[in-house]
Amino acid sequence: MGNWEENVRKVVPYVPGEQPKRANIIKLNTNENPYPPAPGVEEVLRQYQASELRKYPDASATDLVNAIAENYGVQASEVFVGVGSDDVIAMSYLTFFNGKDPILFPDITYSFYDVWAEEFRVPYVTIPLDQDFHAVLSDYDRPCGGIIIPNPNAPTGITEGRAFYEELVKRHPNQVVIIDEAYIDFGGESMLPLIHTYDNLLVVQTFSKSRSLAGSRIGFAIGNEKLIKYLMDVKYSFNSYTMDSVTIQLGRAAMEDKAYFKECVGKIIDTREWTKQELKRLGFVFGDSKTNFIFAKHPNLDAAEVFQELREEGIFVRYFPKERIKDYLRITIGRREEMETLIASLEKKVQAKSC
Ligand SMILES: *Cc1c(COP(=O)(O)O)cnc(C)c1O
Repeated sequence: MGNWEENVRKVVPYVPGEQPKRANIIKLNTNENPYPPAPGVEEVLRQYQASELRKYPDASATDLVNAIAENYGVQASEVFVGVGSDDVIAMSYLTFFNGKDPILFPDITYSFYDVWAEEFRVPYVTIPLDQDFHAVLSDYDRPCGGIIIPNPNAPTGITEGRAFYEELVKRHPNQVVIIDEAYIDFGGESMLPLIHTYDNLLVVQTFSKSRSLAGSRIGFAIGNEKLIKYLMDVKYSFNSYTMDSVTIQLGRAAMEDKAYFKECVGKIIDTREWTKQELKRLGFVFGDSKTNFIFAKHPNLDAAEVFQELREEGIFVRYFPKERIKDYLRITIGRREEMETLIASLEKKVQAKSC
């Protein structure tokens, strides 16, 4: 037996939320959209000719890039697309996080950030959120190789408001600051209007949540032309054809249907606010979520236990067995009926504990 394993890149992988095979479950564990994608997406699938697949896709995904640029009022040269924002962020790490100083991100945040740092051997330091899960601006005043932070944060659902993130970008002109806006469409204030003011600001968004296309894997970054050019160079040096021909058209169709998008997001926000009221009535404690999920704890309930019990009832939520957040459940906002079933089940558990 040789010792080839000494030369292996060993990583502790990110653990994605469960995708259960059982039918008739209520799936509130991976922040998917409960509504189907825009009708135009289905139309693209129906019309697509299999014979087209013999050709390589358009490496620059022009139709999709143009639809995104048009929607946000930016130039196509300011848009980068990838296979989910996970791919976009991974490429951004490779491209922008090459300094000697550690990159910074919150201690409680998207659990992929430290995985990429480990994988790409980027030094990093996590900056603790305060006890109410808010980020503290002055804690980021230190030499660093870059910053990545979600607006709003995950899994807390909390946003710090545009002024906070702007200040972060302004105070670090010599580093790229990546604002991960995976959930921005559910009520946060996007940083997109500031991409021409700050040449070190990269805003990343996704079609997975607000546009109901998690299964198609589409993410994008918007920033000044120079940032995008550097990202493209790295992407083309890695895999030129990341996005397939069908997905390019599915994404275009989803982006073009603005009315449908608005309607879906509106329904989810309404259901979220209803769910907040109900959770509050039951005694749950949570921050003011501007996302399609609520991160909540209950003084009398054991989160790990509730997670298991709900799972047995066919209601899947997310639980993170990590020190500062082990009392919390992350509950995705589904359809109103699904949330009613969840609330009814939680109500029984709360009542059982109080008598
Ligand atoms: C869901 C999510 C992503 C990744 O989404 P993709 O499906 O890869 O586009 C990135 N960042 C955060 C904070 C997320 O919650």
